[in-house]
Amino acid sequence: MPLKSPFPDLDIPKCNLLEYLFPNGEAPSDTPIWIDAKSPKDHLTARTLLQWSKRLALGLDQLGSKPGDVVMIYTPNHIFVPVAYLGIVGSKRIFSGANPGYTVSEMVHQVSNTQAQIILAHPTLAKTAVTAARKAGLPDGRVYLFSDVPCTSVEGCRDWRELLPSPQDGNAYQYPQLSEKEATTTTATVNYSSGTTGLPKGVEVSHHNLVANLEQTIYMRYLKKPWDRYTRPREVWLGFLPLYHAYGQLYTIAMAQKLQVPVYIMKQFQYEEFLRVIQTYRVTHLQVAPPIMVMLSKRAETAKYDLSSVTDVLCGAAPLSKELQNEISKKIGCEIVQGWGMTEVTCGAIHVPGGTIDDSGSVGQLDPNCECMLLDDDFNEVPLGQPGELYVRGPNVCIGYWRNPHATKESLSPDGWLRTGDVAVVKDGWFWIVDRKKELIKVNALQVAPAELEAVLLEFDPIADAAAVGITLEGDEWPRAYVHLKDEHKGKTTEEDIHRHMKEKVAKHKQLVGGVVFVDEIPKLQSGKIMRKVVKDWAKRDAETM
Ligand code: AMP
Repeated sequence: MPLKSPFPDLDIPKCNLLEYLFPNGEAPSDTPIWIDAKSPKDHLTARTLLQWSKRLALGLDQLGSKPGDVVMIYTPNHIFVPVAYLGIVGSKRIFSGANPGYTVSEMVHQVSNTQAQIILAHPTLAKTAVTAARKAGLPDGRVYLFSDVPCTSVEGCRDWRELLPSPQDGNAYQYPQLSEKEATTTTATVNYSSGTTGLPKGVEVSHHNLVANLEQTIYMRYLKKPWDRYTRPREVWLGFLPLYHAYGQLYTIAMAQKLQVPVYIMKQFQYEEFLRVIQTYRVTHLQVAPPIMVMLSKRAETAKYDLSSVTDVLCGAAPLSKELQNEISKKIGCEIVQGWGMTEVTCGAIHVPGGTIDDSGSVGQLDPNCECMLLDDDFNEVPLGQPGELYVRGPNVCIGYWRNPHATKESLSPDGWLRTGDVAVVKDGWFWIVDRKKELIKVNALQVAPAELEAVLLEFDPIADAAAVGITLEGDEWPRAYVHLKDEHKGKTTEEDIHRHMKEKVAKHKQLVGGVVFVDEIPKLQSGKIMRKVVKDWAKRDAETM
């Protein structure tokens, strides 16, 4: 029997995300919401954000871009990313975020895979964007410079502001309405995730998925607190989560607008700057991933700053031990709650309700409108209290993988169950994530797909075969490769040569920090599939002696 959320079902609107965020097309507030943490005079209010986003939507129309076109964003965080997100999504186009650390090859993969029509790239990344766009077959002139300050031509690209019509014309623009059916079938975002297996794939999230996940998450956060903006205590957030990822998009863009909470946007994460911003602006609530908790615990700078304004912290995106959770809760004197999610559930599906004192390391209870099953290897439900693979169903479960019906079929059943690849235990409706069955490696809470690393390793001529796996060292997970060299390269190709190859091809978080080991053979099944369990056991064994 599926386990239902203990909370009553919510009545979730089925409409354009923009209609949900700006009812009647209005933005009543002139309070700064998206504020540059370095230069707070640079900010956007709900009103100015709506104006800019409408100008972008109309500008894209005038350029000939059509509903359903993918617009890719390749930039570090800045206050205009919310403008792009809402302008693109609201006008029925599709927002796809790329990690600003991506190399040319990684960009080529995402541009080709999404078939993006337009790329908004930060000027510092224009060269990589233009090279990748050409390699992916995009006509010249489709890369626009996308920064918070106007810029002159770089790499022959024009500034995104040149796309924009006048503010008057922008004001007259109306976001299209979506019927209930269209709200569930119109793709709003395509962010990348490797799911349970294989290469990174685009996850298709609909307008309704986004609205549902906002409603669910807000419900869980304010279950025990008033949340309407007149009675709620004043909140201040910090926007350092990457805006190319679902976690940053849901909180820093959509929820900040829905709740009208000011959020100080950090362009780049730097730990001491993060502490300074909390102290200076009296930040009250943080959304973080476990590496931040490790820094709060271990870095000496923590003690130099006054963090007493922080009342509560949400931690998700990777495993967090209850010991570390409790240590930081005591150290800062604030409530720390966990949540579980994945790109395929829009953002989150299990949360500890805000206001709960939890010291058990639980990731929480199922969000409203969600149900789940825990299954064993033979797809039978496990007895209560036993670990099983988590399957989730609900209005926040994505439409599927972008133009990849095969991967969609493997992860999503026709009746809506999503296979998560995470192993959970549930007791009295509370969940603990105890293991990961899928191939995923999480580095600094960012996804690394072993299949991608293996494909890149095999591009290096001396390598005959390779297997990549995560190795956990002092609580952090790192990619590690077991490599079988071609006979003529044995004893000649070094670990350094392989690191050099990887540096050229993949982003920083995918580097083989966990090491490279030369082996005589990669263990494989008759079908040619890598025996992942054996390789994982090698890594566990190696970790004990490192
Ligand atoms: P992403 O799609 O990048 O958000 O990654 C989703 C994956 O991150 C999940 O499938 C889990 O493996 C992991 N994850 C997310 N939240 C948690 C959590 N609270 N505890 C443990 N793992 C988590």
